[in-house]
Amino acid sequence: MVTRFQDLAEVCRVLEQTAKRNEKIEKLSDFLNKLDGSETQAVVLMIAGKVFSEADERVLEVSGATLWKILQKSRQRQTSLVARPLTILEVQRCFSEIAAVTGPRSRSRKESILESLLGQANSLEAEYIVRILHDEMRIGVVEGVMLNGIAEACEIPDELVRRALMMLGDLGEVARLAFAGGKEALEQVNISLFRPVRLMMAEMAHEISEVLSEHESGTAFEFKFDGARIQIHKKGQEIRIFSRRLTDVTESLPDLVETVQRTIQADEALIDGEVVAIASDMKPLPFQELMRRFRREREITRIAREIPLRLHLFDILYLNGRQLVDLSYDARWSLLSSICPQEILAERIVTNDLSEIQAFLTKAVTAGHEGLMAKALNSPYLLGARGKNWFKIKPSERLDLMIVAADWGYGRRSGWLSNYHLAVRDESTGDFLEVGKTFKGLTDDEFDWMTKRLQELKTSEDKYTVWVKPTTVVEVAYNEIQRSPHYKSGLALRFARIARIREDKRPEDADTITKMRAQFEKQFEHKGKISEALG
Ligand code: ATP
Repeated sequence: MVTRFQDLAEVCRVLEQTAKRNEKIEKLSDFLNKLDGSETQAVVLMIAGKVFSEADERVLEVSGATLWKILQKSRQRQTSLVARPLTILEVQRCFSEIAAVTGPRSRSRKESILESLLGQANSLEAEYIVRILHDEMRIGVVEGVMLNGIAEACEIPDELVRRALMMLGDLGEVARLAFAGGKEALEQVNISLFRPVRLMMAEMAHEISEVLSEHESGTAFEFKFDGARIQIHKKGQEIRIFSRRLTDVTESLPDLVETVQRTIQADEALIDGEVVAIASDMKPLPFQELMRRFRREREITRIAREIPLRLHLFDILYLNGRQLVDLSYDARWSLLSSICPQEILAERIVTNDLSEIQAFLTKAVTAGHEGLMAKALNSPYLLGARGKNWFKIKPSERLDLMIVAADWGYGRRSGWLSNYHLAVRDESTGDFLEVGKTFKGLTDDEFDWMTKRLQELKTSEDKYTVWVKPTTVVEVAYNEIQRSPHYKSGLALRFARIARIREDKRPEDADTITKMRAQFEKQFEHKGKISEALG
């Protein structure tokens, strides 16, 4: 059986118009159940708005402007075409063909494949093809809905599907396994070296006493380094390093590979840590400098000398054939310390003494770090989960927000898109809701960079403002969240300033309206407590 792309487009339209989560899940699972096994993986990715699976490094390299131009052309021609139904697999094949084109004249060859694809599509199909290609799906099928849809269609417990995704890091692969092998196939999924997993995350603590009362078995406080999260996979001499987005960044970081080779005394290991760029006095450099290392494809050795890195390890998930995620933090820490030297372990203390904790926080911030992490000693390693087992303690309040538009600056900032409209993610719809604007925090070079980037992401504009595709995440520091009748979100930030550009984060990593509301509710209870702790 072969499914028409038209059927997929119609389901997308229905899902988009269905507000209730349960109804969405039901409709999704009905559709998934009707598909041929060979189509499931492609469909799951397409509905999630992805062209390829996450582990797949292929890229299409077709800009929004090109897509738009071809779409217009194909609309004008549409009526003259012979109608042969386009299938889901044909569309997927075209995506692969476009990605495979390289070398001379690749742009026009890519365009001609796309032109012929859109030429065969009717207007509904063309709309969804373009939305998939332009990462604009946003039909409210967020990851959780997709996981529940797969679970329902295959009659597998939700938790098992989630666990598989955390270990495989790849929605398409989870769908393929679930539909091909059912519950048994997912039960067999385990951590395997060189396949990146979703790492454990932290919740923000508003005061230290909150941490101590949550962690009954005791807490370890570690420095919160201002760097980039990495996971290191090692088997014998082979080492691969993956970023927070689970991209393989090994080639850009040969010095880190060398450090791992020299210091880690284990044949097989999967280790969690943070890498920081350092100045000659060993103090951490701004995050932006570190990102230059991660993006690097050429002159890697020179830039490695210019921006040396320092490794800080804090967890271990796998050691010599043994999965460790169910062990306690304490037990994992002992294993980690048994295979690596003190100097690459995160600096930490185990205590419940408030003044000791405060002194440690001051020490971290004075040394140029972001604050502290507080980890429950008895906690297992919860893949991909954000919870109270790990708290982060930072001296100022921050949210990761999306830039959805920018105004042209005037005076000193004229010629730059420099006043940024910031939005929070509505996790129930996948939309972004505005919560404020800021022109503070960026350097001139960053204004330059941001202006170029936003123009590439332009979706519409008027004389003052450019609206952009929401893909740029920024970490925003602020003094207070206020109620706002002006914004649909109902909330606005006071004294917002960009603390840094988060190129390591994807749109789905931006903070949610639920989190912001919770922060709003909490702030008046706890305001100032953490800054007081700084003395
Ligand atoms: P943030 O925006 O605060 O960096 P995040 O959203 O990237 O947070 P969280 O899980 O909320 O991720 O916060 C923990 C982050 O802090 C980790 O992703 C990691 O990059 C960083 N980090 C720095 N030091 C540590 C540490 N000792 N233990 C765990 N994470 C650490």
